[in-house]
Amino acid sequence: MMGRCKSFYLSSMGAAFIALALMGLPGVSLAQAPVPVLSMVGIAANPPSAQVVKPLPPLQLRPAATPVSKAPSPSVVPTPLKPQLPKATASPPVALLVDSTVRQGEVLFVAVKIMPPKESSTQVASVVPHHLHWKGGGGLDVPLYSRGAGVWETVVPVRVDHPVGPGGLTVMDASNKALASSAVAVTSGGYAKQNITLSGGMGALTPEPGEMDAIGKLKTDTNPAERLWQKQFALPVPECMNSPFGNLRYHNGKFTGNFHKGIDQRSPQGRLVKAPTEGVVKIAKTYRLHGGTVGLDHGQGVSSIYIHLSRINVKPGQRVKSGDILGQVGATGFATGPHLHWGLFVHGVPVNPTQWVHPDVC
Ligand SMILES: [Zn+2]
Repeated sequence: MMGRCKSFYLSSMGAAFIALALMGLPGVSLAQAPVPVLSMVGIAANPPSAQVVKPLPPLQLRPAATPVSKAPSPSVVPTPLKPQLPKATASPPVALLVDSTVRQGEVLFVAVKIMPPKESSTQVASVVPHHLHWKGGGGLDVPLYSRGAGVWETVVPVRVDHPVGPGGLTVMDASNKALASSAVAVTSGGYAKQNITLSGGMGALTPEPGEMDAIGKLKTDTNPAERLWQKQFALPVPECMNSPFGNLRYHNGKFTGNFHKGIDQRSPQGRLVKAPTEGVVKIAKTYRLHGGTVGLDHGQGVSSIYIHLSRINVKPGQRVKSGDILGQVGATGFATGPHLHWGLFVHGVPVNPTQWVHPDVC
């Protein structure tokens, strides 16, 4: 749920480092706060040299030595134990900002920050967060998107059938080195069973060739370069929600092995369906199973779909703003009557739209 308190997580050693840096303790010299502390943050692959002993303002680092002017002669066999030239750099701490709990079928809005170096620092190692690794439920890697000024953001989906219990996030660089991590507990989504009575003809309805591929691509192929979505969506239709996300689906009393991957709103035939946030049209087509379908790419991992439409008012490639008309409500495809089914996907995972928008419940 949105609105939960954000927590600020670092490894304990990283936190100690920041505490020292923030306190600006007088007299904290490198001799008192030895450089290996920095490597304990889990970032510095090459600990700076212990030769840096000149008393300096807090945590300032300098090149350890005058650079060696020439490479060793190729005729000299290097001694295996010969130390490498030290790198006179310090790695800044990485902060992971994320809620401490998430419900099944919902998302975590995550920010990663590189703490700015102290003014007195002469050199700072380059640390570039690349992706997040979600531990739990089979694992998932999610890209991080730069917001500039040492800040990265992304959205991490948690599957509706993710086990309840401990999970965790780790910030990784491009070489899969862990930079910071945080525990996140997965709580129950409280999803119920839902039976749908089908007539014989509907039970036999199958997707047409290419239909599932197009929808699969909509879920996973979002534009990484531009985030068009806002955290707060607008409702695509004004009516109440008569079927929530996540219900385990039974057809004529038999479990389908599936769950409701979006929400249904009880809208009348012909009601205008509006884009809930900015996006680019990826699908505008009437399919056998999904009926009249519009799919939107909102960028950076987020996409959405609107199905059973009686009319489609957009074309593939068209850019839409929040409130633009996508089409009209209908009962085409696998539908028992006019309503709007729409769904939200984050990095390929169907997630609960009611974390992003708040329809009345019928
Ligand atoms: Zn539905």
